[in-house]
Amino acid sequence: MSRIAYVNGRYIPHADASVHVEDRGFQFADGVYEVFAVYKGVLIDEAGHLDRLERSLGELRIEMPVARAALVQILRRMVRRNLVTEGLVYLQVTRGVAPRDFPFPHAAMPTLVITARNKTFPGREVKTVRVIITPDQRWARRDIKTVALLPAALAKQKAREAGAYEAWQVDDDGYVTEGSSSNAWIVTRDNVIVTRQSDHNILRGVTRMALLDFADKNGFRLEERAFSVTEAKQAKEAFLSSASTFVMPISQIDDVAIGNGEIGPVSKTLRLAYFDAMDQIAATTRAGR
Ligand code: PMP
Repeated sequence: MSRIAYVNGRYIPHADASVHVEDRGFQFADGVYEVFAVYKGVLIDEAGHLDRLERSLGELRIEMPVARAALVQILRRMVRRNLVTEGLVYLQVTRGVAPRDFPFPHAAMPTLVITARNKTFPGREVKTVRVIITPDQRWARRDIKTVALLPAALAKQKAREAGAYEAWQVDDDGYVTEGSSSNAWIVTRDNVIVTRQSDHNILRGVTRMALLDFADKNGFRLEERAFSVTEAKQAKEAFLSSASTFVMPISQIDDVAIGNGEIGPVSKTLRLAYFDAMDQIAATTRAGR
């Protein structure tokens, strides 16, 4: 089976898919993206990702390239045509193609690119990972999911070179913002779940929202506030969240051990709850088809 990509209304072989050299995504990183997990053949948290896409586009005054209902159909078709049962769907929208100039072009049509691939996720049982601390070198609107991912790529590369899985980025005051592609969480010695409040400093993770909702409804103590590197290194548990990792437990921050090297009880409960929620979404979506 050959992979199919979607580019501006056309389903084409992945190997032949391309955008124009003067696409503003390429020339200015003038665009946004989304990543959806596919689990049991179904897009997870579809509405949450589409809501955030609309918000990101609105903040940059880029039009939705197609109506939301049509986009849903295209995304689902991409899952089917690429035979994705478990994996990821990536979607990029840029301001489009225009002669190179900084101000917004008058007549550009947004570019829409969607790709999909199978990927086996680690299951309910998961090993812990290590994170490193690095300065946050991104711009001041991290709530917009832009394709300007160079600082994230640099941070992730630094993590890889240190033998770690993720880099937790830190603001000028010593507080953790988030990972290069995930939100950051700790559980304090008093069993309070802490994750940074969603303002312009972090991306509003769709997974983060689902976890906050679950924790709130299930009586966990929660605080949405900034936490320092020092507090993180003294935490009982630490974990990260994203659409592709769900809840990933952390056993080490820089050279400081967190917990006993195994997934902690709160992280475990949240990870299992997220899998239960995905099973539920998959079952109800398939029943509704
Ligand atoms: N923060 C950043 C910087 C990210 O790139 C991601 C991954 N998209 C997240 C947080 C997690 O967001 P989500 O749960 O929606 O994948």
